[in-house]
Amino acid sequence: MSLLEMKQVQAYYGGIHALKGIDLSVEEGEIVSLIGSNGAGKSTTLKAICGQVKTKGTILFAGKEIQAQPPHATALNGIAHVPEGRRIFPKLTVKENLEMGAFSVRDKKMIRERIERAFAYFPRLKERYHQQGGTMSGGEQQMLAIARAMMMKPRILLLDEPSMGLAPVMVDQIFEIIEELNREGTTILLVEQNAYQALQIASRGYVIQTGEIIMQDSARALLHSELVKEAYLA
Ligand code: ATP
Repeated sequence: MSLLEMKQVQAYYGGIHALKGIDLSVEEGEIVSLIGSNGAGKSTTLKAICGQVKTKGTILFAGKEIQAQPPHATALNGIAHVPEGRRIFPKLTVKENLEMGAFSVRDKKMIRERIERAFAYFPRLKERYHQQGGTMSGGEQQMLAIARAMMMKPRILLLDEPSMGLAPVMVDQIFEIIEELNREGTTILLVEQNAYQALQIASRGYVIQTGEIIMQDSARALLHSELVKEAYLA
């Protein structure tokens, strides 16, 4: 059984048919990358999983149908979403942002332990503990957004363009952290326009174009495919 499975998932925004029957699966322990150009439907795919857009079709998480569940149920099910544009709470400190990520956890000691764990992955956030999120660099805010999502110990992390707008050094760091989180047991579905790096760290990948999956294969095969090279790695 796959951890996540989408079967013929469709989504509309008014008259725009944004997803035209997506079939996609993620196995426990994998990094799967979903690549595609602007407006292809990458973000909508993640929103569909999180119940943020109305869909037709079936979405199974750990064997259970989740397509009709409201967004707040998603987090409790073990699905964490880091949306595009790293929406942290700009006026709250790093510490407060992390605490918000653990909103469903009552045990104070457990929250402290998870914050310590976040700092092991993201030492830079420890140095910025009392700093307001909004005053940090783009890369630091992206780290905070990912660390906050990890506070509820998700089974799967949905990452929407984590490298967007970051300096190359920072991009490398973010991809290293994604790999490390995966090595520690978190399954990851990664949406990226940065196809090369996204496929480098993934085991499998999907290519989405105008709301349809046009290719799926091992990440290695996609990296060597002429179509992918021409359209997405140029
Ligand atoms: P990007 O990286 O540019 O966000 P994407 O692959 O994530 O691209 P989506 O954001 O999923 O693409 O958009 C898919 C399609 O749905 C596009 O045609 C987009 O214009 C449209 N769309 C997305 N959000 C909305 C919305 N809130 N209202 C209307 N149309 C939308």
